[in-house]
Amino acid sequence: MIVVVGSLNMDLVVRSPRLPKPGETLRGGPFATYPGGKGANQAVAAARLGAKTAIIGRVGADGFGQMLRIAAEVDGVNVEQVLDTPTMATGVSLITVEDGGQNTIVIASGANATLTPEDVEVAGSLIASARVVLLQLEVPLPAVIRAAELAREVGATVILNPAPAPAGRLPAKLLSMIDYLVPNESEAGAFLDEPSSAPPKGLARALAAVTGVPNAIITLGEAGAVMASPSGAIHQPAFRVQAVDSTAAGDAFVAGFAVALSEGLAPTKALRWGCAAGALAATRLGAQASLPRRDEVLALLRG
Ligand code: ADP
Repeated sequence: MIVVVGSLNMDLVVRSPRLPKPGETLRGGPFATYPGGKGANQAVAAARLGAKTAIIGRVGADGFGQMLRIAAEVDGVNVEQVLDTPTMATGVSLITVEDGGQNTIVIASGANATLTPEDVEVAGSLIASARVVLLQLEVPLPAVIRAAELAREVGATVILNPAPAPAGRLPAKLLSMIDYLVPNESEAGAFLDEPSSAPPKGLARALAAVTGVPNAIITLGEAGAVMASPSGAIHQPAFRVQAVDSTAAGDAFVAGFAVALSEGLAPTKALRWGCAAGALAATRLGAQASLPRRDEVLALLRG
């Protein structure tokens, strides 16, 4: 089983002829709501790829919270441990997309910010049956750290997708419990003291050296991904696809990698799985709507 400890957000997306200036009111539209949040996206992605999956998180006792639970459940995610925080609104992302494609995003983490280490402990029996525990940084660090501790205790593989990029250094205690650190290029930069012009494999090696995490993977969009491990560094080129929108490509990658590892595949094979899932997500619009199914990934892997 794959257990995700992370965020659930409702994305509120409005189209606009252009991005508004401060103080300005624009007529926009159409408007739509989409289930999102990195935790929920990665959980839905893993479930669609065929893994038994559960998410531990928090939503507000409101309509968005209900909708997020249902959306994840429809895709087969166990949402028993998505708890209600009655005093807070469900997390939302307010997204304005201008016709040229540029956007602005404001995230109000709401109930996600109330996830505690105790919540994670209450869900300990889920973690006890996990092969892989998948973490991001959209819920409070103490909850992320507790999840990593419980995962280590039961011998589960711990993957941290450090997104959004941490503002400061992550606690050494957390890094010491991570098996795979999986940032994209810009998030990887947040771990290095100065901007690096090293080629990608060198960057991945530097990331592993700086953090002490044994395996560092950097996703490179249409250039694929690199992985530095104790046995060496490898580059997995991207699968060639007609890309239209890379939203959630990173979430699909992380889930694909996690699903393959949970099935006992070697990390190099899992890297291909991640790249195939990410590429397919880039061929379709949207976040959860674009996440691929297992048969699509298998077809792309067969070539
Ligand atoms: P993020 O969405 O977090 O920025 P990336 O853009 O690096 O993540 O995408 C994650 C993975 O998805 C990449 O490692 C790559 O394998 C795949 N991917 C993303 N964009 C494309 C693309 N245009 N063509 C093929 N594969 C892609």
